[in-house]
Amino acid sequence: DKGLEKTKEGFFAKISKAVVGKSTVDDAVLDELEEILVTSDVGVTTTLKIIERIEARVERDKYVNTSELNQILRDEIQALLAENNSDDFANFEYGKHKPYVIMVVGVNGVGKTTTIGKLAHKLKESGNKVVLGAADTFRAAAVDQIKVWGERVGVRVVAQPMGSDPASVAYDTLQSAVSNGEDVVIIDTAGRLHNKIALMNELTKIKNVMKKVIPDAPHEILLVLDASTGQNAIEQCKQFTEATDVNALALTKLDGTAKGGVVIGISDQFKIPVKYIGVGEKINDLQLFNKNEFVNSLFK
Ligand code: GDP
Repeated sequence: DKGLEKTKEGFFAKISKAVVGKSTVDDAVLDELEEILVTSDVGVTTTLKIIERIEARVERDKYVNTSELNQILRDEIQALLAENNSDDFANFEYGKHKPYVIMVVGVNGVGKTTTIGKLAHKLKESGNKVVLGAADTFRAAAVDQIKVWGERVGVRVVAQPMGSDPASVAYDTLQSAVSNGEDVVIIDTAGRLHNKIALMNELTKIKNVMKKVIPDAPHEILLVLDASTGQNAIEQCKQFTEATDVNALALTKLDGTAKGGVVIGISDQFKIPVKYIGVGEKINDLQLFNKNEFVNSLFK
């Protein structure tokens, strides 16, 4: 599977090495497994949960063959990942609302703009009319970047001059989407995390303004996290979930890291489905996260 190679090689190779020459899962194997999970950025809490469950299994069955370890681990990881039913971009929940409104949040540099561009492309390709709202009005570069992506993908972009009120951009975008009969609205927001109250207020204001146009918008509050930052991603997830009601995650840069384990830790800790994964910088490098494929790719 493109993009997850590094995680797969890292994970699988390490586990194989840990059990080489050993027939049973003993304390030494479990210690090594614990270290592999922690260094793959699964996170300490989730790692301990997994280890405890394997210990319980060893206790129950008395003798667990190391060749069974992969399957056991696979089952445990599968159980920890939040359920999602994403199969393809055309056959998804977007169609249930018109327009379907996605508010995108996340810290600068995680790949927010790129994810918006790639998502717009996928949605357009699957037959949706898409519009982007450049509501990160604090950085001129952010507005320009969204415009560049809009041109590249061939979708409309609503923008106002730098420094404008982000809520006003969101309002304009939704209103024009309704009058143009567009299917999906994707709104970028500013990614400053220096002050949680300010962040909370700003996101609340944008949401409230959206509701004036479409009462149940936003339908998706998508938090973008850089998977290669491991524990930072987990910390950002904590901050943003406290500031607003995030209900979907995008994990970017999974192609550049051997630490895809962060997917497992984040799913387990926050119970928010990972909906999209970024596996490169190109326009097509976004996938809907599929739990089974992900687990398979770890153990293939
Ligand atoms: P923003 O500040 O959050 O909007 O971040 P950008 O979208 O500008 O992305 C920051 C950098 O990360 C850019 O160089 C992107 O090309 C790169 N990037 C974004 N997503 C991915 C991904 O999935 N894989 C890789 N390898 N790079 C990515």
